[in-house]
Amino acid sequence: MTQLSQPAQLREAEVCIAQLHYRASAGEALAELAGCATTTELLVTAHRMWCGPGCRSTEDCTFLHYPRTVPLPGLPQVHRSRYNKDTAELYGLMGGAGYAVGTAQRHETDLWPLLLEAMGRADAGAGAAIDYTDWARKGDRSAAEVAAYACRDTLQWAAVWLGEEYARVPAYLHYVALSTVVDDLCVPPLDLVSGRFRLYGHSVGSVIAALEGEGWRHDAVHALLSLVRESVYQYAEKVDHAAAGGAGLHARLNDSAGVWDACVYRMHSANNYGCGVVVARVCGTGPVTFGWLMDSGMADAISMDLAKSALDVYRLDAHQPTAGPRPAGLRQQAYHSVYLDLIDDLVRSGAPEGLVHYGRAGLLYVQMMERYHERRLDHRVPLRPPMAARLRELFGEEPVEASVGNRFRAHRDGAGGGRPLGGPTGLGTSAARVFVAAGAGS
Ligand SMILES: [Zn+2]
Repeated sequence: MTQLSQPAQLREAEVCIAQLHYRASAGEALAELAGCATTTELLVTAHRMWCGPGCRSTEDCTFLHYPRTVPLPGLPQVHRSRYNKDTAELYGLMGGAGYAVGTAQRHETDLWPLLLEAMGRADAGAGAAIDYTDWARKGDRSAAEVAAYACRDTLQWAAVWLGEEYARVPAYLHYVALSTVVDDLCVPPLDLVSGRFRLYGHSVGSVIAALEGEGWRHDAVHALLSLVRESVYQYAEKVDHAAAGGAGLHARLNDSAGVWDACVYRMHSANNYGCGVVVARVCGTGPVTFGWLMDSGMADAISMDLAKSALDVYRLDAHQPTAGPRPAGLRQQAYHSVYLDLIDDLVRSGAPEGLVHYGRAGLLYVQMMERYHERRLDHRVPLRPPMAARLRELFGEEPVEASVGNRFRAHRDGAGGGRPLGGPTGLGTSAARVFVAAGAGS
């Protein structure tokens, strides 16, 4: 029932059967993206590569949105989850209301105007004001510390997703680490694509080249554009939060009766799609549908929040997908129910074991990773010596360049130093401390 015995040719097969508009190599795509002069142009260019010039940028656009249809039944590759829509009500996750039949899976808000508005503000100077600021907000003294802890988290996620194969290809870890660090450190998307930002010396360019060297071909274009999308989302919500305390983007995103807008945003702001491609490649799934990658990625993000709710960490999140003007209990039950529908559909439609496991993994990794306990404790748990050694072995010695360290320090020690910036969504639980202090004591 597992993929561990897959033949070598399947391990090397491309996994993304959905063809993007862009047909040249990921390296050529990156060269074009790196030439963009503004973050808005970067977003527009990445979108054109994904959808093509004919996309009307509406709720049908699959770069920002997910117009989902329930997949046809297939041959199940794994057993149904024991934690499922028939058992969920026995537990207190996400408010404890269990499963609601018929939870809507359709968009109510078009994200395009919200994102373009945020990028306009970023390009007008709001971005530069917060570049390389600390959004982990766990008391790190340097950008190097933020980056090193992000890479610790990367190893732990990868091991939960992949078991002993987690480090088989270090470039895969470097890709996931770039996805993680843009959550914790405000990395300008243009610095990411141009290679001005490097993590342990690895740029997006060197990582993409390594993926292509592993035979990723068109999968590398998916991975690249998904990472660019995440970096733009992260930048948008940091700009928005620094200006409006998150009252703009997330409030408008969550001002709908359903939770689908928030579910899809949550996933793309953490690059669960790109990380799902990594999981599929390591597991040797062979070709998988766009729907399986989306459903498992979204389930991974929601299962993380379900576990966080059980550990009393979710309430510390700055941007909860279940927040909003509508009754919280209904939104929580809807959010929970989307997970229960997705995970059943993955199994029933015959998704490979690796992706079904990825969808369930938040229920495991939240309790196992220091990242989440640090949020509750409000301080770092120091790196254990074996972990520090693994980081040196798999990543290197110097987490960030001196220029990034200097920018970080200037913000920290400057006029705005120590000012709580609040936190983004994403795989992490960044910066919620602010809201506890401010807050509602809820
Ligand atoms: Zn589109």
